[in-house]
Amino acid sequence: MTAEHRAPLRYVAATGALAAAGTLWYVLWYCTGIGPAAVSFLWLPLGAAVTVAAVYDLLRRGALTVPAKRFWRLLLVSFCGVGVGFSVLAAAGFRDTSVLPVMPPAAAVCSGIGFLTAMWAMGRVPLGISSAGERWKQWLDRAIAFLGGSTVLFHFGLAPMLGGTRVWSIQALVLLGMSFALAVGGITKVAYIAGGPVDRVALRLIGLCGLCGAGVAVCMVLGGDPGTVPAQAVVMPIAPLLGTVAVRRQWTAGAERRSRANIWLPYLAVAAVDVPLIAVIPGALTWTDKLVILSSVLVTGLVTIRQFVAFRENARLLREKRLSEERLQHEATHDGLTGLANRALFRRRLGEQLDRGGATVLLVDLDDFKTINDSLGHDVGDDLLIAVADVLRAETVTDGLPVRLGGDEFAVLITEATVLGETIAQRILDAFAGALSAHRLLVHASIGIATAHTGTPLDRLLRDADVAMYAAKQRGKANWVRYHDGMEQPVADHAQLGGELRRALDAGEFTVHYQPIMSLHNGRIVGVEALARWRHPTRGLVAPAEFIPAAESTGLIVPLGRFVLREACRQAAAWLAEFGPDALQKFGPNVSARQLHDPDFVTDVQAALAETGLPADRLVLELTESAVLRGQQVSRALYQLHALGVRMALDDFGTGESSLSLLRSFPAAIIKLDKSFVDGIELDEPGSPEADARQAVARAVMQLALALGLDTVAEGIENQAQADRLLELGYSLGQGYHLARPMPAEAMTALLAAQKNLFAPA
Ligand code: C2E
Ligand code: CA
Ligand code: CA
Repeated sequence: MTAEHRAPLRYVAATGALAAAGTLWYVLWYCTGIGPAAVSFLWLPLGAAVTVAAVYDLLRRGALTVPAKRFWRLLLVSFCGVGVGFSVLAAAGFRDTSVLPVMPPAAAVCSGIGFLTAMWAMGRVPLGISSAGERWKQWLDRAIAFLGGSTVLFHFGLAPMLGGTRVWSIQALVLLGMSFALAVGGITKVAYIAGGPVDRVALRLIGLCGLCGAGVAVCMVLGGDPGTVPAQAVVMPIAPLLGTVAVRRQWTAGAERRSRANIWLPYLAVAAVDVPLIAVIPGALTWTDKLVILSSVLVTGLVTIRQFVAFRENARLLREKRLSEERLQHEATHDGLTGLANRALFRRRLGEQLDRGGATVLLVDLDDFKTINDSLGHDVGDDLLIAVADVLRAETVTDGLPVRLGGDEFAVLITEATVLGETIAQRILDAFAGALSAHRLLVHASIGIATAHTGTPLDRLLRDADVAMYAAKQRGKANWVRYHDGMEQPVADHAQLGGELRRALDAGEFTVHYQPIMSLHNGRIVGVEALARWRHPTRGLVAPAEFIPAAESTGLIVPLGRFVLREACRQAAAWLAEFGPDALQKFGPNVSARQLHDPDFVTDVQAALAETGLPADRLVLELTESAVLRGQQVSRALYQLHALGVRMALDDFGTGESSLSLLRSFPAAIIKLDKSFVDGIELDEPGSPEADARQAVARAVMQLALALGLDTVAEGIENQAQADRLLELGYSLGQGYHLARPMPAEAMTALLAAQKNLFAPA
């Protein structure tokens, strides 16, 4: 059951009924004159009794804080005092037949205690101000408001009574004065309470009870002695009604409600003082007096307006300052492009979470973002990053903090302990399955997941996630992998291999093997591909698959590639010298992306050609599509090579992603159809979608090459049936174990010699 349901309405109903009955009685009394006038004194004590019961009920069953309990306890005493005081007065009224009985001292004392307790209760309600400067300013404001309010009440209420013909009993005047003080003091106090244990509205209602005193004064000034009757029967019963409504408010008051304090009250008070000032003008002595009063009214009015304007200005400046502080704070902790949290905020939150308990992070790295950025431009790249950020935001609304660490690296800090990292990772990968951004791009992400318990160093957790992310990339991208102990070992092995490669390069352990490229019509050798080999002192001949990746990641591919290039050019020039210029058309070393990025690459090629005397048009550099798609520097290098007359072959064609658009912008001369399309091409499997697709690609690549005027070489031919099928499809050049395996230079020399005899012009 909520507090609202428990708040009893019956007390409000009872006091309301009593107030209505009092008014009704007064109307009857006024019209018919029956019944003793002293009945008018009964309504207030009856109402007060109900209010006392209501407050008691609230104290017993309501959920009150200590200061609220204290307030309502004092109010219980206050209403008891007033109730008893007015009961005594009523008793005196029934004894004394005059309309206005002399107030017995006991009645005055009891009521006085009642008023004083109410004022005391109001005074003790905490304001919730901490700084001394603030408190001092508030007292000043409240003093202004209090003086202003009391001047008005005094002028229109007390002063006419004091100055009138009738002599009022001291008791009556003191009580009235007190009730005025309660009203004004209560209201000025309440205006500054922004919220707190005692309900704000309840406080105001109690303060308003004091205004009943003002009502009484007005009745009596206007009506003389008979004015007592409506004052007591109609005005006074309103006080208990206000009291019970206040009690009900307190019942339903929820947790601490905070609202803005009434900053306008002092201005209102200053304006209020002007009202009696204007009111005294007609009675002022001379016209100069009138002028003085009028101008001071004007001055206070203008000063008030001026103050209020200044206040509004201050409030505006404060608001702007707060907003700009918030903005600065946001900029310092968020990424400018995507609006996600940045690395600094991520580290702070992660640190906090690690202090409190465990934490799980996802490291999200986009696959091939660099390719998109370089080939389609930075604007498209930026749009894609924003779209990715939107996906991360949408997928982690309730359980994670998405972060942009920089570049195409993102992270998610999981904030909901019950959610598994794997769940969110899969959600993110699923969301990436569709096209992103206005450019409808397909991106994939590799995600590393790592969890740490309290006390784990933050950087350790991030390193683990990084290792897991790399493992995900190696497992073929668009993947997530959770970190486990020992996972970093392969990475360490890689680094070790790198060190060994360096040594092998210096020790001259590398050599080059050559694989012929042949005519499929007659088996004549038209070119060779140069392939690196490592003559390892203990392991024997090591294949490139084992060392090229490590050479690429350590950068050693640059000197290694330079060696292969030189060696291939030297060997090619030697063969041309020995077997004549028609013996071989193309010599193809492989070139990695990393080498193309090397600013000296073009010079190296030039030097190799110059030193060996190999004609540039015999050199064919084998490049993969992803190596070519590496931005402006690479494009420039490729065009310079093209200008030198060097040809380029697109290796592993068909396995990359943007083959078609690439061919338009890249000066390729030869397409090497990847082995994966040759595998099984000879098999006649009617209805097999895979076989159909392979044939379709092989056919399409051929048509493309014809249309663009490019040569083709089919790679990885392992049997005659494949060679026949490829011939049918239009391929005239091939390479593969079926034709010849890669071999050392000497074996190649022998092969060329044999061929020279075979194909020698008769
Ligand atoms: P690739 O450029 O596609 O070279 C062709 C690879 O396929 C060679 O493997 C070759 O031996 C193999 N191959 C040829 N015919 C057949 C066949 O009928 N069946 C099968 N199963 N395989 C065949 P290798 O020599 O092990 O080279 C592997 C890869 O290493 C090369 O692939 C190339 O990407 C890279 N590589 C080799 N040497 C170098 C180099 O000097 N520099 C760079 N950057 N990469 C190199
Ligand atoms: Ca190749
Ligand atoms: Ca290849």
